Amino acid sequence: MRAADFIDPGTICARTNASRPEPLAGEIIVQVAACGICGSDMHMFRSGTYRDKLIRQTPEGYQVPGHEFAGTIVALGPGVDGWANGQRVVGVTGQGGGMADYVAVPVNPYQLVAIPDGVSFEDAATTEPLADGLQMIRKANILTGENIVVFGVGIIGLGVIQGIRARGLDVGALIAVDVHPARLEAALKAGATHAVNAREGDVFDQIGTITGIEQGYSGTSARIGVVFDCAGYIRHMPGPPPLETALRLIDLAGGRIVCFGGFEDRVTLELSPLIQKAPTILGSNGYAPEELGEALAMMASGKVDRGSLISHRFALDDVAAAFAAQGGADALKVILKMDSAE
Ligand SMILES: [Zn+2]
Repeated sequence: MRAADFIDPGTICARTNASRPEPLAGEIIVQVAACGICGSDMHMFRSGTYRDKLIRQTPEGYQVPGHEFAGTIVALGPGVDGWANGQRVVGVTGQGGGMADYVAVPVNPYQLVAIPDGVSFEDAATTEPLADGLQMIRKANILTGENIVVFGVGIIGLGVIQGIRARGLDVGALIAVDVHPARLEAALKAGATHAVNAREGDVFDQIGTITGIEQGYSGTSARIGVVFDCAGYIRHMPGPPPLETALRLIDLAGGRIVCFGGFEDRVTLELSPLIQKAPTILGSNGYAPEELGEALAMMASGKVDRGSLISHRFALDDVAAAFAAQGGADALKVILKMDSAE
């Protein structure tokens, strides 16, 4: 079968002679129709970060990324019931393998979910990042009228914005921060009220102009109740890590900062506001099984438009070009299409 092979940072290629996986007990085999390139795959592609968590090795030694994909069940391992060949599914693997014609997926509610009628394989391949956003929203426990900031509006941050709107939450300003105009434009279309380009001046000052500055005994804030940090730390970005800016922005009391974006290196932070304002900093990774189902239901009902967030489609043979595109300024979500299905 065909499979992508991640060789070293900056180098990935397509192989044609990888062994097709056989299902172990409790696994099914998915014939992949569409597989997304994740932000974590890009961290790995740029710097090697998280490589051990993002790759599945074939017997030939090919290192296959891809953990968010959709396709059709073509084989059931021993002991699997409740699933059938021909069923359309979303698979999520903890360990890559999805950028290939076939991939083994363990049967459990975190990793395998059926696709409702009317949802395309491409859209369904974006289920996992939307579910990640739904968990972040749940953890943030947004209060009525709160101002919200989303750092990094790639597929994850855009999913947070879509999720807030699809759940009908009553928020104040919903501000997207990024360095790419194409992403900021998509954020406004997805339901953000304001877009801030971090390259066009100090982020705190730009947001303070929108929401107003509050001064008090515990410091200064830009009246932000919740910050979603979907950017983390990317070595080549100038300026302080978004987490430091989040600590400046956050309300004088009761704020929450939800961290999701990966860190490519150790970081240095001005932490005084953490003590003075005592916000809650929450990490978030993954989703609850119900959030996978909720994400797909939002697509089936038309409450979210995931197709509008797919900016590029590539054949698996062009995986190197696909990774280059995902790293480009105009990329939202890049999807690899295996031409064997849909
Ligand atoms: Zn991912």
